[in-house]
Amino acid sequence: MKIAVLSTNKNLYSTRRLVEAGEARGHEMPVINHKRCYMNIVSSNPSVHYNGEAIEGVEAIIPRIGASVSFYGTAVVRQFEVMGVYSVNESVAITRSRDKLRALQLLSRKGIGLPVTGFASSPGDTDDLLDLVGGAPVVIKLLEGTQGVGVVLAETKKAAESVIEAFRGLKANFMVQEFIKEAGGADIRCLVVGDKVVASMIRQGKEGEFRSNLHRGGSAKLVKISRAERSTAVRSAKEMGLNVAGVDLLRSSRGPVVMEVNSSPGLEGIERATSIDVAGMIIEFIEKNARHGRTRTRGKG
Ligand code: ADP
Repeated sequence: MKIAVLSTNKNLYSTRRLVEAGEARGHEMPVINHKRCYMNIVSSNPSVHYNGEAIEGVEAIIPRIGASVSFYGTAVVRQFEVMGVYSVNESVAITRSRDKLRALQLLSRKGIGLPVTGFASSPGDTDDLLDLVGGAPVVIKLLEGTQGVGVVLAETKKAAESVIEAFRGLKANFMVQEFIKEAGGADIRCLVVGDKVVASMIRQGKEGEFRSNLHRGGSAKLVKISRAERSTAVRSAKEMGLNVAGVDLLRSSRGPVVMEVNSSPGLEGIERATSIDVAGMIIEFIEKNARHGRTRTRGKG
């Protein structure tokens, strides 16, 4: 098959591994920088162009769309879908999971465990907003943040009010979340491919840090997950409509709660921590499922 990896950098670990895994199985694996694609929107013969030529013969794509280029990246994915090319993660599903608030709303509709989360934008309701999530300590998150930047733990009501005031002053969208203290600065990343968790790791923040992000000095190791955690991860990916997803869970005293569902999960941390060939499993999934015109918008919202 000809399977294109949409990625802005062919040297990134995840991109390299997908190419390697595909080639090892006899596929042609071009890397296409979606930022440099351009396209024509017409009803007959739509196409995607790259480096002065129309892209031809691609049977499937693996979108690796960074958060900063979601808008244009998903437009390129959508164009491939219009052309009938199979995308392992569809554009609508990527957009759905990128919007943290929208994602949580969709998961809550399915009764999936979540940290109690409040969202507001007008200045008069800080008190009630804090009460809504059970009062301090709370975690306040910028909706646009990634890799733990813009995630603040406010231990007291006063601190929470100051942070909320500051975020409001910046006209930033944010949410206020119950602090899951019992998670102890650790979270669980479940890598879902199709309807299975194929690998899972526990990430532990460095001493004194409640955020477990590897980019913030956290460390990762293989973890055995419970049946409830497995089913929560699979249901979350399914509700987003993602075939490949990184589902982040916290272990709370009332069971697993989902923090985020990532549509372009990094492979480096999870492959190193678990020694599992996740890239190979993604290619295998595509081999089994890719059909021309098979892409369709699943789920609602
Ligand atoms: P990002 O998407 O920027 O990584 P997250 O929402 O995943 O932001 O938060 C970063 C880290 O902070 C998480 O991996 C987790 O360890 C910690 N964290 C986030 N929300 C909570 C919460 N409600 N309770 C406890 N810890 C949290």
